[in-house]
Amino acid sequence: MNVHEYQAKEILARFGVAVPEGQLAESAEDARRIAESLGGRVVVKAQVHAGGRGKGGGIKLAADPDEAARHFEEIFGMTLVTPQTGAKGRVVRRVYVTRAVEIEHEYYLSVLVDRASARLLVMASAEGGVEIEKVAAEAPEKIVKVALDPTVGYTAAVGRRVGYALGLEPELVRQFVRMLGSIVRCFVETDASLVEINPLVRTPEGVLLALDAKLNFDDSGLVRHPEIRELRDTDEEDPLEVEASRSGLNYIKLDGDVGCMVNGAGLAMATMDIIDLAGSRPANFLDVGGGASKESVAAAFRILLADPDVRAVLVNIFGGIVRCDRVAEGIIAAAEEVSLDVPLVVRLQGTNAAEARRMLVESALELDVADGLDEAARKVVAAVGGAR
Ligand code: GDP
Ligand code: MN
Repeated sequence: MNVHEYQAKEILARFGVAVPEGQLAESAEDARRIAESLGGRVVVKAQVHAGGRGKGGGIKLAADPDEAARHFEEIFGMTLVTPQTGAKGRVVRRVYVTRAVEIEHEYYLSVLVDRASARLLVMASAEGGVEIEKVAAEAPEKIVKVALDPTVGYTAAVGRRVGYALGLEPELVRQFVRMLGSIVRCFVETDASLVEINPLVRTPEGVLLALDAKLNFDDSGLVRHPEIRELRDTDEEDPLEVEASRSGLNYIKLDGDVGCMVNGAGLAMATMDIIDLAGSRPANFLDVGGGASKESVAAAFRILLADPDVRAVLVNIFGGIVRCDRVAEGIIAAAEEVSLDVPLVVRLQGTNAAEARRMLVESALELDVADGLDEAARKVVAAVGGAR
């Protein structure tokens, strides 16, 4: 799960990371008032779950409260297109006003999980700011990487190593050691998967501040952090994925053309493999889970049919705890609401499978029933026009 910059900064500040003060503005008048309270010079910042806002015109410096109000008018409601939003862009629904900071230097700093080494990795660069992707592509040696030993965790030695690699002088290194310690503690205690500060700035007074912040959380850890889960902004997410998670479905959009409804992650993977083997590709990974109800099956079906890439649907259910007749009920209920205009192949095995098959065959639905997995895959691949 992602959160907005202002939320990420609030969380980081709780762990002791220094950030510029700021407030969310509801209106131009509000932006003016906040600017006044922050001393006049502020930055007006579009809040969307995508980076590169500065380049897209979503970050504007204001010299005084009047200018802050004008910037608010421009940014609020705009469709912000950045290198990370795609051509469609994002509508800006929240605007943050922060105290403007004088910048002497911009650094890049992040903490993430490095899957290859199975460790937390600190990445930093003295060439931070809006061109960091270019630095990473053209001069990767300018990014220092230090992995944390999981048996030791973060130590001042790690902080000093990164700080000196950034070229900070001793007084700033001391500040940096504390700051990175706070960031790592935030990462671990919130079950984050990424903390990124770009830019981390140093002011002429010699203070380090997180001017921008991006936090991603491990969805599986959110059950332990209800206060973070509340920050979820579904306006920023794929509507089909939002509907899926509301219904307790595990749904991931893929780029093929066979929509798959499956119960259990293992069966979902096997189904994807066998579709591939039969010569086509899955349009999604949709696991209705072990406790599939009529309602969640119906939701799954709606999601599959709402995806314009889906040219045929394969339902592959192994009834163990979940009963096949309940799945059939869900499919029939969903088909009454949304018209089924692509071929449907159903393979049901296990608890109450015969009953389920009878219900489906007797329903008004046009579908093809398969007994085995091979047969099901062949039928659905034939339905999308044969092997590629
Ligand atoms: P991003 O474009 O989405 O990464 O948004 P950022 O919050 O990182 O802002 C982009 C750039 O705007 C930064 O790299 C800074 O150069 C500039 N910027 C942001 N806040 C301030 C500020 O308080 N003072 C100054 N001088 N520049 C700022
Ligand atoms: Mn940034």
